[in-house]
Amino acid sequence: MERRLETRAVHGGERGRGMYDALTMPIVMSSTYTFGSTDEIRDLVARKAAGGPPVRYEYGRYGNPTQTAAERKLAELDGGERALLFSSGMAAITASLLSLAAAGDHLIVIDGLYRRTREFVSQYLPRWGIDATFADADDIRAAIRPSTRAVFFEMPTNPHLRVPDAESIVALTKHHGLTTLVDATFATPVNLRPLELGVDIVIHSATKYLGGHNDLLAGAVIGSAERLAGIEEARGVFGGVAGALDAYLLLRGAKTLALRVRRQNESAQCLAEFLEHHSAVSRVHYPGLPSHPDHAVAARLMSGFGGVVSFELAGGLDAAAACIDRLEIPHIGPTFGGVESIAQQQALFVSPDPVERAASGISDGLIRYAVGIESIDDLIDDLRSALRGLPTRGGGGLSDGP
Ligand code: PLP
Repeated sequence: MERRLETRAVHGGERGRGMYDALTMPIVMSSTYTFGSTDEIRDLVARKAAGGPPVRYEYGRYGNPTQTAAERKLAELDGGERALLFSSGMAAITASLLSLAAAGDHLIVIDGLYRRTREFVSQYLPRWGIDATFADADDIRAAIRPSTRAVFFEMPTNPHLRVPDAESIVALTKHHGLTTLVDATFATPVNLRPLELGVDIVIHSATKYLGGHNDLLAGAVIGSAERLAGIEEARGVFGGVAGALDAYLLLRGAKTLALRVRRQNESAQCLAEFLEHHSAVSRVHYPGLPSHPDHAVAARLMSGFGGVVSFELAGGLDAAAACIDRLEIPHIGPTFGGVESIAQQQALFVSPDPVERAASGISDGLIRYAVGIESIDDLIDDLRSALRGLPTRGGGGLSDGP
């Protein structure tokens, strides 16, 4: 019987009497797997040549039992036939794109990519003769060339949380025979079901919500066995495979994914509504607000709006720095998706140069607030006192708060 997401999160990939009848998946710390005889090697080589599914472990770069259990859980969560686990989200993204395109091919990526993905696409892919066009979601049709192989986008994007209309993008890519890849790290399988929308390959930085505790680095690619075959081959060659300990932490963290993400959705919505009415805040970016440009698309395609809220302070760079330094609950740091709230002044990570910052499209006063699972009342009280006295919208006085 098809189980619901909460049940799959707990039991997926781990059910059954495993080693020592242990309830949890053991952490198998072996980099290699031995053969009882030469005949076993002959048998393995023959099965691989026949193209069948993996039958046994051989060497850690090609698979590990703890990693396999995590992959099964992630495949179940996203409703995909298979999942591949990588050492990081970037390892998943780079292996996927490199295995899909060759010299002379062209990719389309939708603007608003994670900084390092953008760097990979704009600075590294051209070294291998792979050209890419950065397009607005509305301009994909015009960017398609005979050499175009795939369209890659994030949903929602970072830090403005734009939500490309995956349904209309898929209609276009299918018509032109292109592969569609979505980095759904911000959404998670709880809020977005890309494969059900017709997307071919889903990618996650499992470092974020899937792991959920800021204690592991991993990436995942989910899709049909056929689509993943080339990416798996590339992983075996590039070597960005997840270690057994990280795979175990991911298995453990993912059990509470639905609980955490639903709580984070609720808290982020409250935080966004609070901020929208605050006089020190000039703009809030959160797809759960009717004022967000993609609210209607997000409400149609997503079942939750996510745990990250970005907002801009009227007082710019100094006000954002002051606010962050006054916040007592969130840590200051560059990630999101864990149980601890984390806030970050995005512009400072872009560049110390104001001209480069302006060109990046990230305003100096922008704060990305990734909500954890703390009490929302505490988070709002903390934010209210951090915003007190900061310059208000429209010039004028200093904020006393709403
Ligand atoms: N995709 C998105 C949307 C991200 O925000 C990040 C990292 O912040 C990545 C991919 C890369 O993931 P990782 O840090 O696990 O390599």
